[in-house]
Amino acid sequence: MNVLVINAGSSSLKYQLINVETQELLAKGLCDRVGSDEAMHKHGLDSDEICIHTQMADHDQAVAVVLETLTSGPTKAIDSLEEIDAVGHRIVQGGKYFDRSVIIDEDVIAKIDEMAELAPLHNKAAIMGIRGCQHHMPDTPMVAVFDTSFYQSLPPKAYMYPLPYELYEKYAIRKYGAHGTSHRYIAERAADLLEEDLRDLKLITCHLGNGCSISAVDHGIAVDTSMGMTPLDGLMMGTRCGSIDPAIVTYVMDKEGLSPQEMDDLMNKRSGLLGVSGISNDLRSVDEEADRGNERALLAYEMYSNSAKKYIGQYMAVMGGVDCIVLTGGVGENSAKMRRMIFAGLQTMGIVLDNERNMAGPREREISTDESEVLIVIIPTDEELMIARDTYELVHDLIDSDEVDYNPDMLLF
Ligand code: ADP
Repeated sequence: MNVLVINAGSSSLKYQLINVETQELLAKGLCDRVGSDEAMHKHGLDSDEICIHTQMADHDQAVAVVLETLTSGPTKAIDSLEEIDAVGHRIVQGGKYFDRSVIIDEDVIAKIDEMAELAPLHNKAAIMGIRGCQHHMPDTPMVAVFDTSFYQSLPPKAYMYPLPYELYEKYAIRKYGAHGTSHRYIAERAADLLEEDLRDLKLITCHLGNGCSISAVDHGIAVDTSMGMTPLDGLMMGTRCGSIDPAIVTYVMDKEGLSPQEMDDLMNKRSGLLGVSGISNDLRSVDEEADRGNERALLAYEMYSNSAKKYIGQYMAVMGGVDCIVLTGGVGENSAKMRRMIFAGLQTMGIVLDNERNMAGPREREISTDESEVLIVIIPTDEELMIARDTYELVHDLIDSDEVDYNPDMLLF
């Protein structure tokens, strides 16, 4: 079964065509700056990438460009649209409505629209992507896969904020989490790698990149996560501050005369590695400067590692221990130095990094010593494959049972 995975942003549309049974990636690409005169289409499996200026006034036209590219000319991956059995859409915010992936119908679209309140740019863009696909492939089943659904299992003591309860009732202010599809993928893949049942494991999953999040996954169920009502919470990131004393917000607004939007901008775009180092949001550039003796770069580097270390400790306490810590994301997969700093000094907690294994490249592997009580593994994430799998499970079941509803046991948790 071929699944087209669509990840629509406000002015972009990423896609992958995946054969789910063989896990083969048949094609992938990106429509960028959709709606502007500089709209650009990139297509190809890395080595044979093409990059062309193409008119794309909106997401509907971007979908048309993608489908044309997949079915004709030198880029052809399939003979006709009939070879796309289903489409899986990444949705950032499912709010309270979705604790799993679902087949898309008008009711689902209405709820995604309602939840746009919490992620305006992302959810509105996702709906444009869905509408575009519906227009060009009216008979193809579509599935919505939510970044937040993995965290609908959090208990109230983890998702509530200690604010007046009415704010939760009036505005649904609570923790929703983010990066859930990535955490779900690496949790499941780690269990496979360890040849264990996920339901027998206590995992701490760490997605460390430009955006960062850490989750506690207790016997297959997410019980806590570092991102909050928005993806600004939790760890220090590339440009985001993560958790800070909330009193700083009003204090800085007052001192600097900032509007709410300007303060939001400061915390989301001008903080984190970039804000502290004054150099870059990219860890490699910060590291290079730290090596040259730049003290702010070194401080930023140390703060990033310390932030991750603290969440690992927290979540061990939350779950009463941990069997395995899983790392992914640009930093988690690639930076041996950052991993060394995060795990330094954790021997007394049964966590021992193996220096040689740690240095051995970015592939999927175990990097703890044989004696370490807690395993540490690297799993390159694959959110698109996870979306394709969910889509397959729902659509396959739909076809098999000839019903609109589906069997939750077919899902992963
Ligand atoms: P995003 O959250 O935008 O998806 P990524 O997961 O791609 O980000 O991670 C980007 C981060 O990964 C950058 O800070 C980059 O410096 C870092 N990174 C990528 N490769 C390496 C590497 N080989 N060594 C150290 N850091 C790396």
